[in-house]
Amino acid sequence: MNDLQNKIRDRIQAAKRVLITSHIRPDGDAIGSSLALGLALMDIGKQVQIVLADGVPASFKHLPGAEIVSTKADGKFDLIISVDCSDLARVGNALDGYHAPDIIIDHHVTTDPFGTLNLVEPEAVATAFVLARYMAGWGLTITTPIAANLITGLITDTLGFRTANTTPAALRQAADLLDLGVDMGSLYYRSLVRRTYVEAKYWGAGLSSLDRKDGIIWVTLTLANRIASGYSGKDDADLVNIISSIDGSDVAIIFVEQNEGLTKVSWRALKPGIDVSQVASQFNGGGHKAAAGAEVNGSLAEVKERVLRVTQESLNV
Ligand code: AMP
Ligand code: MN
Ligand code: MN
Repeated sequence: MNDLQNKIRDRIQAAKRVLITSHIRPDGDAIGSSLALGLALMDIGKQVQIVLADGVPASFKHLPGAEIVSTKADGKFDLIISVDCSDLARVGNALDGYHAPDIIIDHHVTTDPFGTLNLVEPEAVATAFVLARYMAGWGLTITTPIAANLITGLITDTLGFRTANTTPAALRQAADLLDLGVDMGSLYYRSLVRRTYVEAKYWGAGLSSLDRKDGIIWVTLTLANRIASGYSGKDDADLVNIISSIDGSDVAIIFVEQNEGLTKVSWRALKPGIDVSQVASQFNGGGHKAAAGAEVNGSLAEVKERVLRVTQESLNV
């Protein structure tokens, strides 16, 4: 094992109380990775708190260990680990009153190495992949419930093993996790396929705004759409994946109004060779070449105008 791996193992083995956190509006990789690491640490006798600023959305409550996630840390910790989070601001208020993470485990290209020990593998399909690869070396065992969490991270970040960055290694790793007895079909259905009626209504409102120009296709989701449909999340309910499946454009963008002065923007590259993470970086966001996001200040109309223009200019689409 290399020096970084040894240091991570030593910190983990020496710790008594561990705080694990991940990014706001957590996705399947953020939640699956947090829970997998948390359960494995508890199995070797550590006291663990998993703190996610926005908690666990209903669509991931089925994951083993989801009930132990809280939205606020309490007490002292001798080890803080952040997973699947590319910068400190993205943990939201989960670490308020605590020091920056001692260890970060991540896979974004744009990651700011904000930990003391930074394990960042941008080629990895998911943070769950990085964890599954190294956990044994840190003295942690992947049990069936842990495998269910890890495979959820792999499934969700690769949209069911169909993103362009899906590797043979990711599929082999998924096969090894299946060997531990996880029900992949059910986890796949719950995390990627199943939708509520309310989400479908919310999608409908968004889809009615569908528009395209040059190489860009986009939709907007307003606060009014959210209220009218009864959707309780602050995100796009994965509508971005639906618009990404529409043929004929280079980039898909979704604008989700957070409040009057803030809009969440998500970009997806629809063709190989387009790097949307660098456009997101221009708006203080980040992510991966094919999928990136940012929180942009300004009214929905202003943000839309600016983001469409800058995306068009920088990608020449
Ligand atoms: P999203 O558009 O939120 O589905 O995110 C797409 C990818 O970009 C994910 O890997 C996110 O972690 C990353 N991402 C989204 N928003 C931000 C942000 N504000 N800063 C850095 N990375 C982000
Ligand atoms: Mn994530
Ligand atoms: Mn991820």
